[in-house]
Amino acid sequence: MRIGIIGAGLAGLTAARGLAEAGYAVILFDKARGPGGRMSTRRTETAQGMAFFDHGAQYFTVRDAGFAETVERWEADGVAARWAAAGDNAWVGTPGMNAIIKAEAAAHDVRWNCRIERIVREGASWRFEHDAGSESFDTAIVAVPAEQVAPLLASHAPEWAALAEATVSQPCWTVMASFAERVDFGPDCLRNAGTIGWAARNSAKPGRTGPESWVVQGSPAWSAAHLEDEADSVIAALVADLAAATGVALPETLIVQAHRWRYALSGAAGRTMLWDEGSRLGVSGDWLIGPRIESAWASGRALAAAVAA
Ligand code: FAD
Repeated sequence: MRIGIIGAGLAGLTAARGLAEAGYAVILFDKARGPGGRMSTRRTETAQGMAFFDHGAQYFTVRDAGFAETVERWEADGVAARWAAAGDNAWVGTPGMNAIIKAEAAAHDVRWNCRIERIVREGASWRFEHDAGSESFDTAIVAVPAEQVAPLLASHAPEWAALAEATVSQPCWTVMASFAERVDFGPDCLRNAGTIGWAARNSAKPGRTGPESWVVQGSPAWSAAHLEDEADSVIAALVADLAAATGVALPETLIVQAHRWRYALSGAAGRTMLWDEGSRLGVSGDWLIGPRIESAWASGRALAAAVAA
């Protein structure tokens, strides 16, 4: 039984782990050049060495007992650690958020830089079409953000495509700034300060090296209102707001850049996963449950259990 998974974020990789443990042959495809998905970490050279920014998810919390076991394994493997600055139950990947995705991906055959353009039903098989050709599988799993589901599934599972289309994500403008000196502000993070939804001293997270580095996220409402703005004006606005929110004069910047996430925090479709035994087609992703890392894990795990059953 060959299973093809589109999307090697945490949902796809968690499904892959469960299915590989159940004895299936799994191949994952991801359009990105490397591991991360929305748990990405960006490296940027500065005059004071390499700066690192978790520019997607900032940290995660743990509620489910099964997820707690997984996080214990990540901690034992050195790819996750608690980050008390964000709360008692806050965890991050180490040395970057993407370390978790890298570690999970290492166990599987993942084809990076490979966007699946469409999937085609051929007899009892699913053919995945990409730039370099195509491959066929007995089972197809789609583990991509809600907004990217419909183009793949509209002609095979229109009701699922409609559910995904109705589950709208919020955007997030993210500014990444490294400074020549420490920003003279006591706490390592702040929430909901005017136009800022969240800002954190990324370089204070466990296991980080490099210069003083901050990640500043516009609130969902501000990001939506400024979605089509130029990066330069977003940088100017959010850096000024960081100065205002911390109440300090910011040191000289070594580097400052911005990233626009059109689909950052998912909606919540009120499901856990989608699985059709007849056609052997499945869907997982945070958006089925809600906009959290734990949701992506829970959805992937539930789908693997359904497929294996
Ligand atoms: P993704 O990580 O998006 O993975 C989907 C993968 O599918 C991607 O790697 C993509 O490249 C790939 N893909 C898409 N289409 C195709 C295609 N056609 N072919 C091949 N590959 C494809 N969560 C928290 O718990 N705490 C937070 O603080 C937090 N903050 C966040 C802040 C931001 C700015 C963002 C962006 C997200 C945040 N999240 C947070 C949400 C969290 O990152 C997600 O819930 C989780 O990472 C989703 O995992 P996923 O596997 O469902 O999707």
